[in-house]
Amino acid sequence: MYTPDEDVTTTAAAPPMATPASRLRPAADAAAAVADAMRVLLALTVLYGAMSFLVYHVIHMRHVAPLGPDALPGVFSEGRVLQHLRRLAVDIPGRQEGSPGLEAAAQYIKGQLEGLAAQARPEYRVEVEETLVSGSFSMMFLRHRVTLGYRNHKNIVMRISSNVSEEDEPSLLVNGHFDSPLGSPGAADCGSCVASMLELSRLILESGWVPPRPVIFLFNGAEELFLLGSHGFIKTHKWNSTIGAFINIEASGSGGADLVCQSGPGSWPSRIYAQTAKYPMANSVAQDMFGIIPGDTDYRIFAEDIANIPGLDIIFVLGGYFYHTSYDTLENLLPGSIQARGENLFNLVKAFTNSSMLLKESERYNTTVNDRIVNLRAIFFDYMTWFMIFYPRDVSLILHSLPVAVFLLTPLFLNFPNITMMSVFRTVLDLARGMLLHAFGVSLAIVIPAMAAGLRLLFTKNAMNWFSHPYLAFFMFVPASLVGLLLPRFIWGLSEQSHFWGAFGLYSLITLAYMLAGLSGGFLTFFISMSLLLGRFIISSISRKQFSQQQSPGIVA
Ligand SMILES: [Zn+2]
Repeated sequence: MYTPDEDVTTTAAAPPMATPASRLRPAADAAAAVADAMRVLLALTVLYGAMSFLVYHVIHMRHVAPLGPDALPGVFSEGRVLQHLRRLAVDIPGRQEGSPGLEAAAQYIKGQLEGLAAQARPEYRVEVEETLVSGSFSMMFLRHRVTLGYRNHKNIVMRISSNVSEEDEPSLLVNGHFDSPLGSPGAADCGSCVASMLELSRLILESGWVPPRPVIFLFNGAEELFLLGSHGFIKTHKWNSTIGAFINIEASGSGGADLVCQSGPGSWPSRIYAQTAKYPMANSVAQDMFGIIPGDTDYRIFAEDIANIPGLDIIFVLGGYFYHTSYDTLENLLPGSIQARGENLFNLVKAFTNSSMLLKESERYNTTVNDRIVNLRAIFFDYMTWFMIFYPRDVSLILHSLPVAVFLLTPLFLNFPNITMMSVFRTVLDLARGMLLHAFGVSLAIVIPAMAAGLRLLFTKNAMNWFSHPYLAFFMFVPASLVGLLLPRFIWGLSEQSHFWGAFGLYSLITLAYMLAGLSGGFLTFFISMSLLLGRFIISSISRKQFSQQQSPGIVA
């Protein structure tokens, strides 16, 4: 490890005369510097390798053990979901609008729900309905206004409540669609959603937990064609005005992280998620990104375009290359993903139906209540699905300003106690240089691996084989990225102080910019800048300790 104090001591101890030994010294120093550099590179390789391995393990749900079909009735079982899914995505050929498969799927779902209703204990009230929806609306789609008219799309609806519940009590809606796009078996998108909803409704009825407020399951028959099924339900169904919150489940991949991509209006749906999800997978940056991705979910109908209901949009995001293709099959689902989704959903259903914020449409129009609901979006993110960090927007205003405040004071404390206009000016210039250099390094860390990937396409047919062997991605991208990050440091060597505080300043300013733009992603650079500070504090404390230990014997002698 590099210890500056040792270097200082060695140089000070060297004799001032030109001897053969002193001529050898530059060569020895260079060798020591190379050895130091190699040690740093090795440490970085081990660090990045361990991080990549951990992230791969977590996002592929290796830490979640799927339960089999014979699991106890009081738990959610991925095995039982797969049994439903086999019927929907393998036995039934195609569930596209207008195809016989779609009707067969609707009848399978309805049959399962009626079976559950028939066996439900007397403390539950279970209603199952087959509805046909018709209507019209217009929406902006890929910057074009599209006007849609539709007739007779089939939804299957189930409402589970206690036997003493009122017809107009505020309720929770759980939505998933059973239609699939042309040419796709739709195992993940969204056979996995409706099969999970079948298992969840069974679990509610057999676990003995009676929902304090009704849960409505919408098995939606027309999502792929411009969100018609959800529109028909929310505009025409008799229970539409009772819905106080919704959970939309979707898939744009074959499993992995079941990410909360959108939440709102207001922050209470994401707060409930943060408090109750067993495997939290949520990130407020996702909502910033969702606006620029050309895709839509029923979230748009429930929370934005047609109704203003608070809710969550939860989507499988890994394995996007199977999405809407003939490869969206049962075999390509990632084991453990459905188990994690189901266990999260059961906790969420319990929390939402217990929440005092669950209000029907007429109650939400009360302005005081509305102000409580429609507050600004919070900042939240999970750590490796282990736990979640959540803080409201007003806390973030203070927290995310801290790094910039520290950075602005840096020129003063770096020159303390000899603070002059000139010294402060010189330090500010140095820090600005360090900041520009780090920004350049970060840009190169993105551009160089991208260029290397482009070049590989020209020279080999196997340039994309990291898709099937993900560990190759580490060797293909991480070293090239590190080269990009470190290159400016080798070419334009500034003082260590300028490099460090320049990098810190860059992340501080990005955090501030995010906050001023009203986006929710600033936490990432906030935590980078605070980690830098913490790391520097720890390293300088250790160095000081070592230095004082080296000095003490000399003082005694
Ligand atoms: Zn879908």
